[in-house]
Amino acid sequence: MKRFSVSIALVGGMWFIAPVPMAKAAPCLIVTLTGTQAGPSVFNGQAGAGTLVRYGDDGNNCGAVKLQFDSGRGTNMRLSQIDVTPVQLNAIFFTHMHGDHTEGLADIMMLRWYLKGPKIDIVCSSDATSVRGGTNSCRKYVTHIADAFLQSGEVAERRSEDNARLAGGPADLTNVITFEPKDEPQGVWSFGDVKVSAIRSTHTAGHASYRVDTPAGSVVIGGDAGNDVLAPPRTSSTSDQVERLAKGVDVIVHSTTHPVMGPDRGSGFPSFAFYRQSSTTDLGAMAKRVGAKYLMLTHLAPSLGAVRHNRWNVPGGPLTEADYRKAVEAGGFTGTTIVGTDLAGLRLPAK
Ligand SMILES: [Zn+2]
Repeated sequence: MKRFSVSIALVGGMWFIAPVPMAKAAPCLIVTLTGTQAGPSVFNGQAGAGTLVRYGDDGNNCGAVKLQFDSGRGTNMRLSQIDVTPVQLNAIFFTHMHGDHTEGLADIMMLRWYLKGPKIDIVCSSDATSVRGGTNSCRKYVTHIADAFLQSGEVAERRSEDNARLAGGPADLTNVITFEPKDEPQGVWSFGDVKVSAIRSTHTAGHASYRVDTPAGSVVIGGDAGNDVLAPPRTSSTSDQVERLAKGVDVIVHSTTHPVMGPDRGSGFPSFAFYRQSSTTDLGAMAKRVGAKYLMLTHLAPSLGAVRHNRWNVPGGPLTEADYRKAVEAGGFTGTTIVGTDLAGLRLPAK
């Protein structure tokens, strides 16, 4: 009743009073898995890891802002299947510098450069030194993303056909924004109502996990995060920092390894590789603790229906969607679980 009387005052006593005078289109968010392959292997045409987050309203099909998180092999092809071109992306974020999360960037950037831009923000960790002494450098990766195409002569040749293309090739179109990952969330990018924050997480040096907050909902992209304690005994294989980042979030998108690949099951899968990912059951428990509504499993190790994961046989034979679902439920999660396949997605609010 109060709002109704305020409306009368606003319209100066006109008789066609609307009880809700602000006709703003409803905001919406779409989360799409652009690739679900775990690790360097190829399986059945799956694209490498990546997640597209779109935000907007009904008028633009939730597509005013398009953010790509990781871009494994084939990302550009998956985007083409949902009518998203590289030119439309507002920013690309990387969780870490493993090829299964990064290989698709050259493809995306070559096409964006061919189509003449515009510049794009690439957001990732600053250089990080690993325990064995190597340096993981997102900045260098991006800066050198199309060196091979400069060397092959393609950049010069295509520029001779249209000199509006930048001379330095795709790297000239990138605006690299780096941050020092910390144990508390920090804002790393924003555009209008869309805010992206990041937190340090363990997998490789410089690994980061992200959270996107919008008026339509929120999503955490965990990447390959595991626990800081690299092997049992520990309370969970999931990341304490990701859990902090995910408090009260609507959607968690996370890489996972099914317990069947554990050292106790005899697959031969290296224990360090098993332990540095979040197990499906522990993810279910984490999603429950933070009160998430949706858990989207991606980067499944092993892939659905695969006899082998990488070069290790899956004990007991290929896993099904039900096997992953069961593992999540064993963790106590009662929300909606999406067992990731390429282009699986969800919309908030649900239609
Ligand atoms: Zn990975």
